[in-house]
Amino acid sequence: MIAAVQQELGVEVDGKAGPQTWGAIYERLVKKEIDGQKPCDALALVDSRSEKVIATLLPEVRPIARMLVQKASAAGIAIKIISGLRTYEEQNALYAQGRSAPGNIVTNARGGYSNHNFGIAFDVGVFEGNRYLPDSPKYKAVGALGVDLGLEWGGSWKTIVDQPHFQLRPTWAAGITEKQMLAELRSRHDSGQPVFA
Ligand SMILES: [Zn+2]
Repeated sequence: MIAAVQQELGVEVDGKAGPQTWGAIYERLVKKEIDGQKPCDALALVDSRSEKVIATLLPEVRPIARMLVQKASAAGIAIKIISGLRTYEEQNALYAQGRSAPGNIVTNARGGYSNHNFGIAFDVGVFEGNRYLPDSPKYKAVGALGVDLGLEWGGSWKTIVDQPHFQLRPTWAAGITEKQMLAELRSRHDSGQPVFA
């Protein structure tokens, strides 16, 4: 089905929905909305807390984050997007926690060494009513839904398993390591080059 959609949109047909495909889908549907037609459900806004975080992500990532919230909801799992972009300064402050600042260690990444610093990563929280569940078997189910959408899921990482974490790997980063991808992201960040070009 993805290959058929790609053919229709005129993007590279590889049967895998990456940023290029989602971008083309997004553009096609937003255009429809402008023409006065009802936008696809996939583009409908989600809860306001999630939307606040989604707004910090790169435009290519936003519709996929919304789709994940909607897919989880359809599967009977309430999630919210609870963390998105962090500046280098915010990342450094987080890194200091449990080291030079009080609190427990929460990250091993300094500023520029987390995918959150580039607008391509977000974390979800599972909710039951208003109650946030930091641990739940439901994270695994949401992980599978995210992978279906073409996202990378932190729950499948070998070193630091991070079940709430999702990220959209740019096409140019296919087949390179996380470390190499972060080096390129830092270089693009410093030179003002776009992430998804
Ligand atoms: Zn994360």
